[in-house]
Amino acid sequence: MAGEFDLIARYFSWPAHSDSVNLSVGDDAALLDISPNHQLTVSVDTLVPGVHFPVNTSPYDVGHKALSVNVSDIAAMGGEPRWFTLALTLPTYDTDWLKGFSDGLHAAAESYGVDLIGGDTTRGPQTISIQIMGETPVSQALRRSAGQMGDILYTTATTGDAAAGLAIYLEQLPKLSAPQQYCLDRLNRPTARVAESRVIRDYANACIDVSDGLLQDLSHILKASGCGAIIYTDQVQFSPALKQLHDPQQCLSFALTGGDDYELLFSVPQVKSKAFEQAMQQSGYTYQAIGKLTANSGLIRDRQGNPLTATGFQHF
Ligand code: ADP
Ligand code: MG
Repeated sequence: MAGEFDLIARYFSWPAHSDSVNLSVGDDAALLDISPNHQLTVSVDTLVPGVHFPVNTSPYDVGHKALSVNVSDIAAMGGEPRWFTLALTLPTYDTDWLKGFSDGLHAAAESYGVDLIGGDTTRGPQTISIQIMGETPVSQALRRSAGQMGDILYTTATTGDAAAGLAIYLEQLPKLSAPQQYCLDRLNRPTARVAESRVIRDYANACIDVSDGLLQDLSHILKASGCGAIIYTDQVQFSPALKQLHDPQQCLSFALTGGDDYELLFSVPQVKSKAFEQAMQQSGYTYQAIGKLTANSGLIRDRQGNPLTATGFQHF
């Protein structure tokens, strides 16, 4: 076996003891039955410098991103983010870094309306772990396994900007144009789509957040739902900034395989799609239809039937 997801399935996927565990390892967050109206929704994500953010990212952005990527997993379940704990490992007591990090984290906490309720502080190589907890209205959770053949596949906004941002960072340019800065900001300060998720949960079947690359994250929905997918590659929209920086082929490659966008990728039954689109438009949220779920299990194809390989980021 090889790969991050095989590792998790092989070593850390056990049957639960307790009836309260409604959904365990394998989705964006776990769902716990502890109240009649809501399911406690829990996830943890770690950030390592040079892996989850470029090493010279401002401490403010690191703090903001650390919370945003966690809140994103709650949004991907259709939940309301509520509380978080912070486990911080740092090599030194660096007051400038701590002030920036704390300010960014606090600003994100204010914007998402979540409370820091505890944590742990240790010395060692820099590692930032946040455990997020939220509440999902009973029977509204958006599971990866709930996709149905024929569902329309949507994303919020557009994907690909963060991957372009990483490429820009790696070039170490002395000065950035406005579209370059936009893409770098999308990498360093992602927005968790909590507000959009409140609309999406009323209509969608399956949902995941795009953290590792759209096709790879889609493959998790396909595996869990026993479906395949068609992606209308000629219909995928890009941000104005991305279009200014790259040709359509490169834009598509970033949009389908680049990570770190934290947009939501979700499936809506065809019969609900019109009402869903109206609700999103009324709220002023951007979205795009990029394909649909099909019968051919696990396979992702374009409109002409060519296979699309589900490449994306994996740690192992
Ligand atoms: P996400 O990208 O949504 O944060 P991951 O890809 O990190 O999710 O993880 C996939 C699933 O595996 C999640 O349900 C996560 O909780 C679970 N998982 C990851 N690592 C471990 C681990 N070491 N032990 C138990 N579960 C894990
Ligand atoms: Mg996720």
